[in-house]
Amino acid sequence: MIAGLHIAILLIALLPGLSQPSNTRASDCYDGLFCIESETHPEEVFIFVRSLVDWDVTMVLDIDAKNLVTRGVLPIVRSIKGQTRQKVVSLEVESRDEEWSYSFQVKWILGDYLAEHQRGFVYELPYSEGESYLVGQGYLGSETHQGKYALDWDMPLNTPVRAARAGTVIEFELGFKEGRPDPDLKTKANFVKIRHSDGTIGNYVHLSPNRPVVQIGERVRAGDLIGYSGNTGFTTGPHLHFEVYSATRELDRRTIPVDFNTSHRGAEQLKQGTYYKK
Ligand SMILES: [Zn+2]
Repeated sequence: MIAGLHIAILLIALLPGLSQPSNTRASDCYDGLFCIESETHPEEVFIFVRSLVDWDVTMVLDIDAKNLVTRGVLPIVRSIKGQTRQKVVSLEVESRDEEWSYSFQVKWILGDYLAEHQRGFVYELPYSEGESYLVGQGYLGSETHQGKYALDWDMPLNTPVRAARAGTVIEFELGFKEGRPDPDLKTKANFVKIRHSDGTIGNYVHLSPNRPVVQIGERVRAGDLIGYSGNTGFTTGPHLHFEVYSATRELDRRTIPVDFNTSHRGAEQLKQGTYYKK
């Protein structure tokens, strides 16, 4: 199971086509993010997706239908844009003399699988001015960053964590208290996720279980306080893990290497084993 991936299965209808009143509607909503809506007509069912939030979600919709023909390829992969309603598929009744039914499975992940990172964008170090921290594990690091463009700064507990880039807070978890090198804790790290204007997401991980200092939907600027570093989840000690990623059409995450504004050379990729002063 991919962290952040959600799955729901729903049997929408089991309706004899002939007794079906025309133009009925149904709606089911997921995580407060989007709703799948259907409009049933005598010979056709239209399925729509309606976004409930200002940010993007990548959704995969698969349909299992009886006596209904789907126009288009299944499963359907869609990037649901903020506050829109779009038709995703039409199902046509094959034989009007027989019953028809369908069920669907919907999976989703935050983020836009079509997002492209803004070329040349320079991130701020995610801590306070004047502070300096060691990159204990860098991009593609051999401990836990194999294949991942993620950074770990060794950082004392409860160090203020600041947004590396402006964006919108789209998800956070601050309820976990434990941290140690135990695989059972891999999905039990506190985090804050911020959506950037290019559709990529900044993920700040292992935060301490303090009261939230940001709210879902809140806009933050680079340098704003977004939480406090901690030692929650799968860790060997207090540190801040940070990665920029975009969703993929397989509902996974593709991490992206980015440059930071440092006092060394202006803009550069950070190296493992180096201290960076802000
Ligand atoms: Zn890490």
